[in-house]
Amino acid sequence: MKTPIYLDNNAATPLDPRVLEEMLPTLKEHFGNPASSTHRFGWAADELVSVARERVASAIGAAPDTIVFTGSASEANNLAIKGLAFAALRSRSAARRIVSVVSEHRSVLEPLDELRAFGFEVKSLPVNGSGELSSENLKDALTPNTLLVSVMLANNEVGALNDVNAAAALSHSAGALFHCDAVQAFGKIRLDLPATSADFVTLSAHKIYGPKGIGCLYIRRPQANQIFALVHGGGHEGGYHAGTLNVPGIVGFGKAAELAAGGLVGEREKLEQLSERLMLCLRSELTGVQLNGPELNRLPGNLNIAFDGVDNARLLRLLSGKVALSTSSACSSKNAAPSHVLQALGFGVQRQKSSVRIGIGRFNTVEEIDFAAAAIIEAVKNIRRG
Ligand code: PLP
Repeated sequence: MKTPIYLDNNAATPLDPRVLEEMLPTLKEHFGNPASSTHRFGWAADELVSVARERVASAIGAAPDTIVFTGSASEANNLAIKGLAFAALRSRSAARRIVSVVSEHRSVLEPLDELRAFGFEVKSLPVNGSGELSSENLKDALTPNTLLVSVMLANNEVGALNDVNAAAALSHSAGALFHCDAVQAFGKIRLDLPATSADFVTLSAHKIYGPKGIGCLYIRRPQANQIFALVHGGGHEGGYHAGTLNVPGIVGFGKAAELAAGGLVGEREKLEQLSERLMLCLRSELTGVQLNGPELNRLPGNLNIAFDGVDNARLLRLLSGKVALSTSSACSSKNAAPSHVLQALGFGVQRQKSSVRIGIGRFNTVEEIDFAAAAIIEAVKNIRRG
């Protein structure tokens, strides 16, 4: 067993060796530009991109021409939100309201904040103490001038799940478009997009054992002028995203998506069993262990736990040689900012400062979970002894 045990799979997942295998030829012989239509190097790269696009689309029950590759999920979120907003400004549409949720990822919240300066009215809905959005609150927030509603499927910090089917239906009945950040849910919860009827969905490769720096936006009905591109140039990706395609990233994303869709049921069960085992171990040996987020019906593999009276920074330092965990999302933990998600759940500073996020993934074993549990128990006891 190799230590430290990696339990931060909500921040990034390790590359699956089968994904790496598929990517390697794109870094060697298949280096061509997929937009080069005059020789076989370009044709080969273009074919690889087509296969990958089909794989990503089929993993979510969508058609290949609905997938726009982007440089990250952050970029896909920005493309959906700012792209729609700027297109609405250009067409002088009266739809100037956007509704979202306080616990969304920063790559949703920040573009929304920026849009206020362009005359958009942004309504951020609260969540309950488990991190879930109420349909009633959403219904009340919808007005005839609502352009877009953006609700994540699974929260990246506390694992809360939202009923995005219901949210999409409510949004549509008010005449608004619906965007869903499904980055964390992809590969763990079945996404059947024709059924959810989301208009836009954001996905990322590096949360499903693919490479970093590649994401996509699913666009249900690609239409001219509906989205204002963030990057203009050579008309790549149907004009939604200019720039020579990241062929290795796209190929890796395609393989990772295929594997995620193929192993969905078994993987979900495994993640749930390992999470339950870890939680049971901690609760059997320690008092004052609180689960942040829902007790049931949460993102498989995600745990967010507060240890009463324990400073999370000290805990992570004590554990650093044995277990790799985080205090919140990767972006917030780098800035040492308080978690806006834990705040949204109504937790004060004390609870926030005693909370850690645990992300169990595909390659973790029972042995690793038992080792991690023992290490956490020992460290918590040490800190509590003072
Ligand atoms: N949305 C959610 C829910 C996430 O968890 C993340 C990454 O942590 C992102 C968006 C951003 O993904 P990327 O790193 O591909 O920009």
